[in-house]
Amino acid sequence: MIKAPTGTRDILPEDVKTWQRIEKTAGEIFTLYGYEEIRTPIFESTSLFQRSIGEATDIVEKEMYTFKDKGGRSLTLRPEGTAPVVRAYLEHQFPQRDQFQKFYYIGPMFRYERPQKGRFRQFHQVGIEVFGPNHPMIDVEVIAIQWRIFKELDVSDLKVKINSLGCEKCRPGYRKALIEHLKKNRERLCETCQRRLERNPLRVLDCKNPGCQQVVREGPKITDYLCNDCREHMKKVTDGLESLKIPYEVDPFLVRGLDYYTKTVFEFIHTALGAQNTVSAGGRYDNLVEELGGPEIPGIGFALGIERLVLILNEKGLPEEKKPLYFIPLGEEAIKEGIKIMEELRDSGIPVIWTGKVASIKAQLRQANKRGADRVLILGESEIENREIKLKDMKEGREEVIKWKDLKEHLRYYF
Ligand SMILES: [Zn+2]
Ligand SMILES: [Zn+2]
Repeated sequence: MIKAPTGTRDILPEDVKTWQRIEKTAGEIFTLYGYEEIRTPIFESTSLFQRSIGEATDIVEKEMYTFKDKGGRSLTLRPEGTAPVVRAYLEHQFPQRDQFQKFYYIGPMFRYERPQKGRFRQFHQVGIEVFGPNHPMIDVEVIAIQWRIFKELDVSDLKVKINSLGCEKCRPGYRKALIEHLKKNRERLCETCQRRLERNPLRVLDCKNPGCQQVVREGPKITDYLCNDCREHMKKVTDGLESLKIPYEVDPFLVRGLDYYTKTVFEFIHTALGAQNTVSAGGRYDNLVEELGGPEIPGIGFALGIERLVLILNEKGLPEEKKPLYFIPLGEEAIKEGIKIMEELRDSGIPVIWTGKVASIKAQLRQANKRGADRVLILGESEIENREIKLKDMKEGREEVIKWKDLKEHLRYYF
């Protein structure tokens, strides 16, 4: 038997409902804020991710699905959504038309990581990217959008962590102080961090190794090194969050695992999720468009992990849905008449299922019961003769006989 590859999984019909609910809610909220959907390819040139995410990052060094196609090109299954959207933004000359653009996307991403609860190698994200504005209130709006999605889905126990990663003016000062601190504690760092220490010291901050984390927490805080511009930007963002009553916490060690972030970075943490507790995250990337060959255009975005949100929603339990009716025909004549009755019910939006099983009433009732049916419609010879149908309540066992012509009106009470 061939199984789905490690770190991937099938999303079965019972789960798809939750997925659709998330996708629909997010899509509607994005539209509310003027975002338009963009769809980019699943794979891109490898260099796109090397140049944007950064060479000395976990994603680029260890986690990318990179392969050569038959033409010898190096391609990579997208590990995240931002770089492809920036690439598309430039390729289709949005900066020349109107650099202010708001996009959203939904789709699978791929990273070769150790699979665990809430973490897969093919995972799915909904996200947004804003191009053009550098106003801090846009940062607030981007955070508010996530807040609204969670509120709409009735998810609580969330914490917003926020930090500033500074800019090209102030980050070098912090970087220098950080390297000095890390060098002094070199022997306490893991192998990867020792190697990356000088090339990409910020990446030590998101190392999961407890030893590395301890060293980081004893070190300098970026918030102490911010220039006036970055400090003011951060103040306006936190003031904005307060005005919208969105609770947040400044975490001076929050950096996110990608090199392109500048100024605002943030994470939504779900307190009941365990180790993989980040549900959505993102930040500002004021230099990324330029780094990928475009003009100087600031940007900001976030990505929300659908798998993590599904976990939360499943643990919480979805609101009880109206279950469809099951149709139980007894004999060929009942099937022939039943197909017309079912179509008419569906015309009025009443969901009704016939599994296609031709069997005894007992066997069909058993099947409907196994599928959790609340009510079934039974059509036998005598019912056909009287142009009636039997409606059986599966929980209470109660049966009613209803004229065909009254059926729609009668069922409207339940649907
Ligand atoms: Zn700065
Ligand atoms: Zn480390």
